[in-house]
Order: sequence, then C-alpha cells, then structure tokens
Amino acid sequence: MSNAINYDALDVADEAEVVVVGGGPGGLCAAVAAAEEGADVLLIERYGFLGGMATAGLVNPFMPWVAGGKPIIRGLFERITGRLDEYGGWGGPRQPSAFDEEMFKFVAEDFCAEAGVRLQLHTMLADVDTADEAITSIATLSKSGLRQVHGEIFIDGTGDGDLAAWAGAEVEIGREEDGHCQPMTLCFRMMNVNIEAMPSRQEINELYDAAKERGEIDNPRENVLKFFTTHDRQVHFNTTRVVMHDATNAEDMTDAELIGRRQVRQMVRFLVDHVPGFEEAWLEEMAPQIGIRESRRIMGDYLLTVDDVLEAHKFDDGIARGSYSVDIHNPAGTGTVIKRLPPGEAYDVPYRCITPRGFDNLLIAARCISCDHAAHSSMRVMPIVMAIGEAAGCAAEMALEEADVRSVDVDALREKLVDRGASIYGLSEE
Ligand SMILES: Cc1cc2nc3c(=O)[nH]c(=O)nc-3n(C[C@H](O)[C@H](O)[C@H](O)COP(=O)(O)OP(=O)(O)OC[C@H]3O[C@@H](n4cnc5c(N)ncnc54)[C@H](O)[C@@H]3O)c2cc1C
Repeated sequence: MSNAINYDALDVADEAEVVVVGGGPGGLCAAVAAAEEGADVLLIERYGFLGGMATAGLVNPFMPWVAGGKPIIRGLFERITGRLDEYGGWGGPRQPSAFDEEMFKFVAEDFCAEAGVRLQLHTMLADVDTADEAITSIATLSKSGLRQVHGEIFIDGTGDGDLAAWAGAEVEIGREEDGHCQPMTLCFRMMNVNIEAMPSRQEINELYDAAKERGEIDNPRENVLKFFTTHDRQVHFNTTRVVMHDATNAEDMTDAELIGRRQVRQMVRFLVDHVPGFEEAWLEEMAPQIGIRESRRIMGDYLLTVDDVLEAHKFDDGIARGSYSVDIHNPAGTGTVIKRLPPGEAYDVPYRCITPRGFDNLLIAARCISCDHAAHSSMRVMPIVMAIGEAAGCAAEMALEEADVRSVDVDALREKLVDRGASIYGLSEE
C-alpha cells in the first residue's frame, strides 16, 4: 500500500505535530491526551462522528475496569464517564456501566474542543508514505478528493491497524491455527419492551434454541446476549454472530453486514412472536456498522501473551492496566471461552506493545496492539483501550522532540500518567 500514490501531485490538506487516525475509544483518548499535554493534534475519522465501536458499533456497556473492588482504569476514562454522567448519559437502573452513545458523541467532541484537537471528519485514510523507518505523509480520501497530511508523530487509532499495516508494519491476524478472528456482531436495540414481563435468561435461551430448531434463526451463537441500557423499556442485543469473515476485506465486510442484518430480522421476529415482554416492542436501531471484535494485531517491541494476562504480569514499562477476562467468541462457530484472572488481580500493558517494530514515529492507540489472539480478547474492551490511548497520546507529545517514540523516558511517562489521574501499578495510590 505504501508509496502507491504520487504524493507530489497531492494538495496538503493539513499538518500537525501529532496526527491520529481513527476516533474510536483509543484514538479519541490519544488525541485528547496529546493535545492536553501541549501538542498540536489533528484527529482524522472516516465517519461524521467520533466514538468508533462505542457509537458506530452500538457497543455497550463498558466492561469492568475494577480489580479487588478498586478502579484500575482511571484518568481520561474516569473523566469521560464523569462527563457522560453530567450530560445524563451514564448508568441505568439495571446496568450501571451502560452509557448513552448519543451523549458519548457530545462528550467526545467536547473533550476534543476543550483540548484543542482539530478534527477532520468524513475522511478516510487512503495510503501511507514512508522513508527511513518513519511515516512521512499520509494520503486521505474525502469529498475534497485525495489529499495528503503531514505529521511528526502518527498514532494508529483505526482499530484494524490500517495506518501501521499500510506503512508496512509486521502484522498478525486471528488465531494461530487458521487465522480466523473473533466473530463480528451487528448490535441492535429493541424499544417498548415490558422488562418486568421478560422471562429469565435460561427461559429466553430455551425459546431461542427452539426457534433455531424450527429453522427460524440461522445464527451460530449459542445463546441470547442482551444488556439493559440507560433507557427504560429498551434492551440491547449483542447476539448476532458472523464467523470467518475478514474485517480488512471489503467483500467480506459487505457480506458480513448482509448476514448480520438477516440475523437481526430473524431475532426481531423471534422476540416479538415468542418472548414475553416483547409483544409490543419494535426494532429501534441497528448499529451503523457491524461490530468488529478483532482484525490485525501490529507486532511491536513486546508481545503481550495470554499468560501475561491470566497470570496478571506487571511490567516496569506498564502504561495501562486490565482485569477483563480472556473472552473468545468462537471464531468459527458456536461457543464462547471465558478464562478469568485470579480474583482481585490486574495485568499491565507495557509501553513496548504500542511501539510497532521498524518505525520511529508510530504509536498504536487501539485494540490492535502487539499481543496474541487470546490476550487480545481481554485487552480489546473499551476501558482498557481508552487507558492505552491516553498513554499513547502522552507518549506522542514526549516523542516530539526527537521524533522518536523510543526516545520517550518511560518512567517519566508513567509519572505523567499518574499526575493525570491514571492508575499505574506500583505508582498510583491504590
Ligand atoms: C460486538 C462487540 C461487542 C463488544 N462488547 C463490548 C462491551 O460490551 N464492552 C466493552 O467495553 N467493549 C466491548 N467490545 C470491544 C470494544 O468495543 C472495541 O474493542 C473497542 O471499541 C476498540 O476501540 P478502538 O479505538 O481500538 O477501535 P474502534 O472502536 O473500532 O474505533 C476505530 C475508529 O477508527 C475509525 N477508522 C477505522 N479505519 C479508518 C480509516 N482507514 N480511516 C479513518 N478512520 C478509520 C473508525 O471509524 C472508528 O471510529 C465489543 C466489540 C464488539 C465488536
């Protein structure tokens, strides 16, 4: 992909000290943190709003960010949930960690505006130009055509690792045995549900099994995964399952959206016709895009392993923490594997996982950090990715002087994160 375009022929749309591509939970936090630390930051996002899976994927709620009853992810995550609360978009009576995705869009934009992050929405990364182990320019495609953007430090917040992969970084995809990633899921919401009348989880699953046996639902998922939301009478479904499709392939993504919508249609019929409480309910919304759990992982100076996660390893260069289980939805069919950390424990994400090998001016602030397939299934959840994003943003600002992400004094970075209110093992007051 790199150098496929004649950059001399492209207009320069913009330039910034730190260029972040992708405004999901990771890229958003990276952009805000870098700007708050004093860098001139441009955030490029393909949609007309920020939030990534939190908004475009309708993913909810935040998975747990505590260990032993204490928060292990704080900093920007805490400030963002605090602002969601202020805007009336945080928590529900049945789901305390639910958030309102429309409020998330307001919060994300307000944090960017307050920090001075410049936005280029409706703009897709199209190509990456490199020289001497550095990204020199990127090409973007928008209604303004093909243009280029210059930067000193680049941050990949695309989730899929488009920026790093197209720059030529070393990439792994999926599980070791066959390269399949975790399945995609098109999330949807039902409204006007009589929640009090809903049967138990087990009864709903029995009804679901019966509908599958009758051939009314064609979905490899083993049960109905649902959550309550910030709104009364609304139920969120994370239940469709599209397996063995590649999120970095346009044909696969097209097919996946169609399969996902077919499953939603079947699920809606099933709920309204067969599940008490849904008689008067309607399909309120499908996510604007099918949810991507996993795609590329960008190989960096350290590979976080599933043993690191399950044994709650700590690292001298830990820049974020996680306590979420290994949670692998079967990449090829039915079933979900859950493996928990020891009670009360959390693992560190090392700085070296966000520094892709072979590049001086590139950092990762997304789910595509350097880790194995099973470790990814834990670190991918939004609070952990947001903590990684905040660290990446601070590191980017610190790397500006030498235009080298390996010049960052990691002890100073960790101290800075603590000063910002983040939780760093061994440094933060627990
Ligand atoms: C179905 C599903 C259910 C999940 N459930 C939960 C849950 O309950 N709780 C939880 O905490 N986590 C959950 N997760 C995980 C979590 O949502 C994601 O792992 C997390 O959002 C990853 O954040 P990110 O910033 O890395 O990527 P994303 O959220 O994917 O954001 C990437 C951003 O980059 C933009 N982008 C991508 N490519 C380009 C490009 N080429 N040019 C410009 N912009 C680009 C996208 O539009 C997007 O805004 C779930 C994920 C899925 C898919």
